[in-house]
Order: sequence, then C-alpha cells, then structure tokens
Amino acid sequence: MRYHIWTVGCQMNKADSHKLASGLDKLGWSEVAAPEEADLVVLNTCSIREHAEQRAMSKLGTLKKLRSEGRDFKIAVMGCMVGPKTGDLRRQFPYVDVFARPQQFEPIMEAIGYEDLGGEFWPATFVRSEAPTAYVPIVHGCDKFCTYCIVPYRRGRERSRTVADVYEEVAHLAASGVREVTLLGQTVEAYGHDLDGTPDLGDLLRTLDDIEGIARFRFLTSYPKDMTERIIDAVAELPKVCEHFNIPVQSGDNDVLERMRRGYNIELYREKVALIRSRTPDVAITTDVIVGFCGETDAEFQRSYDLLEELQFDKVHVAAYSDRPGTIAHRELADDIPQEVKMARLQRVEQLEAGISARINSRLLGEDVEVLVEGRKPNADGEQRWYGRTRRDKLVHFAGDATPGDLVSVRIDRTSPWSLVGTGKKTTVPT
Ligand code: SF4
Repeated sequence: MRYHIWTVGCQMNKADSHKLASGLDKLGWSEVAAPEEADLVVLNTCSIREHAEQRAMSKLGTLKKLRSEGRDFKIAVMGCMVGPKTGDLRRQFPYVDVFARPQQFEPIMEAIGYEDLGGEFWPATFVRSEAPTAYVPIVHGCDKFCTYCIVPYRRGRERSRTVADVYEEVAHLAASGVREVTLLGQTVEAYGHDLDGTPDLGDLLRTLDDIEGIARFRFLTSYPKDMTERIIDAVAELPKVCEHFNIPVQSGDNDVLERMRRGYNIELYREKVALIRSRTPDVAITTDVIVGFCGETDAEFQRSYDLLEELQFDKVHVAAYSDRPGTIAHRELADDIPQEVKMARLQRVEQLEAGISARINSRLLGEDVEVLVEGRKPNADGEQRWYGRTRRDKLVHFAGDATPGDLVSVRIDRTSPWSLVGTGKKTTVPT
C-alpha cells in the first residue's frame, strides 16, 4: 500500500507529517511522490493565512477530480484547518474520508484499517530520519491567544514532553545519523512550566548537550516575554547550541502590540535583543512582522519600519495581515486596511530587509564558515552544488567534496541577501 503526504505551514506541521510517515512505514506502507499513485493521500493543512487554506482547497479540488475519474483511494485532511467541530468541513468536502486534528493520527490509521494501535505504537524512538537534520517537538499547543492567531484553538493548550522523552528521541535520531536537531514549540520558551520540577528550555538544552553525534541544536519559535536570562545564558554557554534566535516581534508599535495582545511592549523586546547580543556577540537574530493589522495607521507602520532599521535583523519574515475566522481579531476588530496598502507596506519592509540582509551577509565575504551539508542540487548553470546552513542559519551553496551530514569549512566568495556561495573543504564531524 502506498501513501502520499502533502504538507504546508510551520515546522511543527512538517514534524507531524514526518511522524505520520514513520508510522505508515512501520506498518509496511511506502511513500510515493505523486498523489495519483497513492492509496492514501493526506493533506496536512495550515490556517495561519488565508492563502495556505486556499492552497489546501485547490489540492482538494484535484483529489476530487481524481476520484470522479474512478481512482479508488482514501483522502485525509489533518492539521490546523481541522477544528474541534468538523461538521462544516464535512458538508463542504463530503468526499474527504477523514478529518484529523493536529497530531491526532488515530482517525487516519482507523480509516485505513488499523484500529487501536495504542500509545505504545508511537514511542519516542519512533521517528525515522534519513536527513542529517531533524525537528523534535518539545512543547505542543499555545496558551497565548494573540488576537490574530488560530493556533491555540487548533493545537490546544501548552503541553510539554518530559526531558526523558525528548532525550530518548534525540539520542535515537543521533544514533541514526542526525547531526542537527531543532527543538520545536509554538512558543518554545514555554517549555517545562507544566512539568514536575519545572525544567526550562535552558535545562533541557544542558541535558541534551551530552548526546554523542549531535553537532548542533536549534530551537523555534521564540516568544519574547518567555525568553529568560537563564535560557539566553544556556545558548551562550553551550557550544552545540547555534548562535541563532528567531524572535517574532510582529509590530514595532505598542498600540498595535496591544491590539494583537502580544503580552509585551517594544521596550521589553529591545531589552531581550540587547541581552542576547551582549551574551552572544555576532549572534544572528531573525524576526516575523505582520503589516496591515486591524487599524494600523501609517505612523504605527512607520514604527515597525523604524524598529527593523534600528535592530538590523539578519532576516525578516513579513506577512500582510490575513483575517482568520475563529480568532479574537475576527470577532472584535475590523480588518480595515485596504489590500493595496498592506501590499505597499509589505514591499517597503521587503526592500528594507533585502538591503540589511545584503549588508550583514556581505561581511562574510572571504570568511570561512562551518556548513552542515544537507544535500545537493543544480545551480542556475546546471552544475551540481552542495548546500547546507551555517550555525547562524545562512543558506550556503558550494562546490567541493562532501557528503550529507558532513561539517564542511566553506570559504565564501559571493553573497546575496538570501544566500552565500563558496568553496568547501571537508572537516571532521565532532561528536
Ligand atoms: S504565541 Fe501568539 S502567534 Fe504564536 S502560536 Fe501562540 S497565539 Fe499564535
């Protein structure tokens, strides 16, 4: 039997898809690249923006057509499009066989004939990995209820995995050849507050640090208010933890942050960035920004723009606000910024950031950087090039001798806002 999984959205979704795929493999199924060849097609969906939902709908249209042409296969929709009530979805997509909420794989397994697999079917040492990098969820759900966000309604309240459970999974991944592990949470610093002894992310990183074979740890996504000095110190002190933070700011204006109910003001955000930069000089900090949020005036937008200029992020993920049914903002605030204004603001941020990223990256010209090799693909001229990331999460393409999982020293001879190009020299992988 064959399956195909299509995934959009965040790394947590990718980790969920990976886990489901590992389960199906364990049952003897094999993965295929084309839905036309599959006995089970799973769409792992995202609801963060309307665009992501539209992509899933369009996929569903294609699958409906395949069905009407007489192909016999099961269709499962999982992820953040699936809320606690599925009545509307069932009416809208009657040809879908099963709807499953994020991380609830059982309904899918039941739909293909595996009832009562039980918890022991999914142990911590379960997830397979052929890649040298892996995502490991450590805290599920979110308690923050930012007004624009659907995640807490779809992924539920924060639930941390125990330190022992995470350790077991990471040790298993290391034994199967993984070199870099990214610990995941919607607000990853929330880790541990619900566990006995309340270990925090710093404690977890210190415990994982002795796992042989793992050369690098990362974590995503940071929530400014939960980022403590203890965690910042752990990153500074532990050699395996990469010098990279992704800390979404979302807006540079305190009134907008309040309307978003982000739970911090811009002064606190600045303090956290300053503390990180004082403890880990040369750290890379990336951020997320929403433009055109409900009622965002030109002056409020300008404060976001000014903040980006002031803090000089390595990368900015910018999105135009997208009203999501089910959120507080949908109920209580007007989505009143015209689309063309949102797009103009988005483009201004993109242009600003392209300049900043270009400047930051150009400092690496002629430098040697450590790259963890992930794979190989052709460049614009059709020549095969290795690619991977630096500790500061810069994408690097290079020519030279390597295999996936190697740590390679690359001399950078070309830079752009988005990536670096160079020549590699193989080094050994420390464990
Ligand atoms: S912190 Fe806010 S934006 Fe992030 S997942 Fe939670 S509710 Fe959504």
